Amino acid sequence: MKLKIAIQKSGRLYEDSLRLLKECGIHISNGGNKLKTEASNFPIEVYFLRDDDIPQYVEDGVADIGIAGENVVHEKRRQVDVLEHLGFGKCRLSIAVSKNESFSKEWLSGKRIATSYPVILQQYLDEQKITAEIHEISGSVEIAPGIGLADAICDLVSSGSTLLTNGLKEVETILRSQAVLISDKKMGAEKRQLVEKLLFRIRAVQKARDNKYILLNAPDDKLDAIIRLLPGMKSPTVLPLATPGWSSVHSVLQEDDFWEIIEQLKSAGAQGILVVPIEKMII
Ligand code: ATP
Ligand code: ZN
Repeated sequence: MKLKIAIQKSGRLYEDSLRLLKECGIHISNGGNKLKTEASNFPIEVYFLRDDDIPQYVEDGVADIGIAGENVVHEKRRQVDVLEHLGFGKCRLSIAVSKNESFSKEWLSGKRIATSYPVILQQYLDEQKITAEIHEISGSVEIAPGIGLADAICDLVSSGSTLLTNGLKEVETILRSQAVLISDKKMGAEKRQLVEKLLFRIRAVQKARDNKYILLNAPDDKLDAIIRLLPGMKSPTVLPLATPGWSSVHSVLQEDDFWEIIEQLKSAGAQGILVVPIEKMII
């Protein structure tokens, strides 16, 4: 029995999807132009598809699981389960208008909005009780206002530079998105077990990415103050240094609080602070 996973064939999610599998210890030969490939050390088959098709393949059970943007999963309205947010492919679906326009939500009323996401946009307009005309186009949405095809657009944005070069400004975010792992609702027990195994690895990789291992030296009379600043997985490890009166302290820090705590550690008397990445973290 093999688990079938669908990932993007090429594009913004391709590299990160492959990297995630690799970090989970799953070795696959690079897809290239192939439609599918197998892992040598995990019972998994990888299908390379267009991202837009992935929710449907998973709903139909052609693939058991898949990696796609939340934007695509919402837009396609397929009956799939979202198992995990994967932390890459981050973007937002936003409304943008010509940079000289003075925008308010009411302004949208009666306007023509170009988008590749008619379902999500219509839902937003309904929620806001706005009636507008949606023009569905499949690519290069950002040029629509410039050529007189639309008054506004609703498109994916990450840095915003594409908008800028097209004389547009972002005025409303209607969805925040990242890549998610989705699964077939009808999957059997045996496959579910394989998915659990994969999820366990994915979570260990993600946890490791969010945390750093920290080592520092401290005079023994400062240890209490320093230990209070460090959460650690249970509590910090303290080892004596060869120099009497000094200890080495090891712990795990969350990336988010990182700089703040480093500063506090320094002022509490810590020296020789080393911060190293963690490859896997299981708690
Ligand atoms: P495909 O050939 O697979 O249909 P595509 O052109 O539709 O490719 P990409 O542009 O590669 O798709 O984007 C894939 C996904 O990456 C998007 O659906 C979205 O979830 C995510 N993404 C992240 N940042 C951006 C961005 N700035 N613009 C577009 N998509 C982004
Ligand atoms: Zn696509």
